[in-house]
Amino acid sequence: MEKRKTISVIVPAYNEQEVLEVCWERVDTVFKSLDYDLELVFINDGSRDSTLEVLGKLAARDPRVLVIDLSRNFGKEIAVSAGLDHATGDAAVIIDADLQDPPELIGEFIKWWEQGYDNIYGKRVEREGETWVKKATASAFYKIVGRMSRIEIPENTGDFRLISRRVIDSLKELREQHRFMKGLFAWVGYNTKAIEYRRSPRFAGTTKWNYWGLWNFAIEGITSFSTAPLKAATYVGGLISFAAFLFAGIVVVKTVVYGIDTPGYASQMVVTLLLGGLNLAALGVIGEYLGRMFNEAKNRPLYFVNRTIRQSETVTLPLPPFKKEEGTRIHKG
Ligand code: UDP
Ligand code: MG
Repeated sequence: MEKRKTISVIVPAYNEQEVLEVCWERVDTVFKSLDYDLELVFINDGSRDSTLEVLGKLAARDPRVLVIDLSRNFGKEIAVSAGLDHATGDAAVIIDADLQDPPELIGEFIKWWEQGYDNIYGKRVEREGETWVKKATASAFYKIVGRMSRIEIPENTGDFRLISRRVIDSLKELREQHRFMKGLFAWVGYNTKAIEYRRSPRFAGTTKWNYWGLWNFAIEGITSFSTAPLKAATYVGGLISFAAFLFAGIVVVKTVVYGIDTPGYASQMVVTLLLGGLNLAALGVIGEYLGRMFNEAKNRPLYFVNRTIRQSETVTLPLPPFKKEEGTRIHKG
């Protein structure tokens, strides 16, 4: 008999104590009906609740569970990368801990993978439990990035996807600090396929995103994949210089023909402020790129692992004490 293929399911978790048990259950149920072996890689991204404790229990119960405990919170993008580095499967599925993406879709992903697709991603047809502001801003963002760069980043798509071994290995070669994962998935290429699904609201717990975070995420997305903002500064500067040149001509002619005018305080002020503002904005854009170069130039490792936990390994380090938060319960039904 042929050896069964292994699928690594990668779950980044930051303060997800309420959902992990159910997450494990759902994934476990899905794999009962699949003819594939499961490797369930949880990444504890420096959680401050009892996430690690819950994960430890899961690992003790289930030999397929591997827990990577990062040394602090590095952010989801890096947590997913840590998961990919440790995954040993023939393919990997990346899924959020909060069950917004249905694990039931994994079977469908695998079907397409077996047909030769490398990168099968879930495309959300509906965003339940999200405000129209978030939907509208997200849509605008994808349009802007699509225009600005040669990489087409699919809209309404998260990190929920199955990637083949060669995509995993390709991604492992991209060690940049500024990791806009959706962009990186698109950047490596290979055969991609979109599967539509409905994204449900969070099962429990709260989102880690706020508008400031999303704004920074958007800037990250644009600066990682496009130098268009740098070019924009050049063109805007060129346009304004041209206008200023014309204006200078008018002023000279007026002075020659009509003699010296009363001092033009208002127009002088407008021009000074406009140019000053544009100068600062252009410097800011350059600064965004320079700052990223600074971070990349340091060439630091992406993350550090505090410890890994799996059933077969005896736990040597004592678990650190946890601060339990009051009133957090799993919502059922
Ligand atoms: N996450 C993480 N590190 C972080 C923030 C989030 O590993 O610093 C994980 C989180 O536990 C979840 C996933 O990333 O599994 C998505 O986070 P969230 O649900 O808050 O984002 P949203 O679904 O609102 O985009
Ligand atoms: Mg979520």
